[in-house]
Amino acid sequence: MSEKITKGGFALLVILLLASCSTEKERLYKKSTILMDTIVTITVSSESKEKAESAIDSAFGKLKEMEGLINFWSPESEISAINRASGKEKVKVSSITLDMIEKALYVSRTTDGAFDATIGPIIRLYDFKKNKRPSDSTLKEKLTLTGFRKNVVVDKNKSTVYLRKKGMSFDTGGIAKGYAADVAVDVLKRKGIKGGIVAVSGDIKTFGLKPDGLPWLVGIKNPRPKAKDDEIMATLELQDAGISTSGDYERFFMEDGIRYHHIINPVTGLPASGCQSVSVVSKEGALSDGFSTGIFVMGPEKGMRLLNELGFEGIIVDTQGKIYITEGIKDKVKWKGL
Ligand code: ADP
Ligand code: MG
Repeated sequence: MSEKITKGGFALLVILLLASCSTEKERLYKKSTILMDTIVTITVSSESKEKAESAIDSAFGKLKEMEGLINFWSPESEISAINRASGKEKVKVSSITLDMIEKALYVSRTTDGAFDATIGPIIRLYDFKKNKRPSDSTLKEKLTLTGFRKNVVVDKNKSTVYLRKKGMSFDTGGIAKGYAADVAVDVLKRKGIKGGIVAVSGDIKTFGLKPDGLPWLVGIKNPRPKAKDDEIMATLELQDAGISTSGDYERFFMEDGIRYHHIINPVTGLPASGCQSVSVVSKEGALSDGFSTGIFVMGPEKGMRLLNELGFEGIIVDTQGKIYITEGIKDKVKWKGL
C-alpha cells in the first residue's frame, strides 16, 4: 500500500490471460482502477457482461472503503489514528482493521519478528525515490520504537488497539494489499462469480477456474532480467490461492555498491540481505503477502523451513540467484529464460 504508482505497474507478478475459446458460455471480463495508491485489476469469468461489471464495481467499492481504514500513508485512516494515539490512548477500530492487525501480528509471531507489524518508525526514515536513508544514530534511536511483542495491546472484544510507546507506528505496507485481494474476492463470490483473479499491484488472489476450465496462470518476474524477453522467470498455475512476491528490485537505490531496498530487517533497521525475491502461495492473500515479506527477511534456509512447516508453497531466489522451490508446486511451474 505504501507503493506509489511507479513505472512498474503490476510490480512483481503479472497475470497471463490466454485467449479463451469462444465456444464456452463463460467469458473473461476485466477492469482496472487506481485504489490504495496502486493499480487494482479484477478479471472474472462470467456468462454476462452486466453481472461481471456489477460484481467488479462492488469489489472496487469495497476496496475504496477499505482504503479509508487501513492505508498507513493516509492521515485519515484508522491505522494512522492508532499511530497518532501511540503512548496516549487506545483507539476503537472497525472489524476490518482489527482483523488485518491480528493477521499482521500472527505473521510477526510466526516469523519470529522477521516481519514486524510495528516497523513504521523505521520505514519512514527511507525514501527510495530520493535515495534517502537514515544515519546509524537515527536508526538506533528509532529502533527503540519498534517491537510488536510487548508494546501492542489488542482488545478483541472491545475492538480497540493501543501502541504503548509514543512514536510507535504500525506499517501495513507488507500485508494490506494481499488482505485487500482477499476481501475483493469475497465480494465477487457473494455476487455469484465462480472464477476470477484480483491483482492489487503484485498481490494476487485467484478463485475457481478460467472459462476454458483451466487454472489461472500467473507469471513471476525474474529479479535480475538480462534482456527484455527475460522478464518473467516462471509461470505458475493457481486455483483458489493467493500469491505475493517480495523483491529487492522494485523500490531501491544503489550506494557504494550496496542495494538499499524496501524490505527491512527489523533487528538492524537495514535492508534485508539473503534474497532477491520471495514468492509465497497460500489460501489467503493476506498471509501470502505478509509471509513473502517476512520470509525475505528470514533468508532462504529458514524461509524454506517455515514454508514447509506452514504447508505453504513458495519460490525463493537467493542473493546468488539460486532458486529454492517447495515440493507441492514443482509440477505447476514452468520455467523461462533463466
Ligand atoms: P510490495 O509492497 O512491494 O508489494 P512487500 O509486500 O514485500 O512488497 O512489502 C514491503 C513493504 O512492507 C515495505 O514497503 C514496508 O512498508 C513494509 N515492510 C518492510 N519491511 C518489513 C518488515 N520487516 N516487517 C513488516 N513490514 C515490512
Ligand atoms: Mg508482502
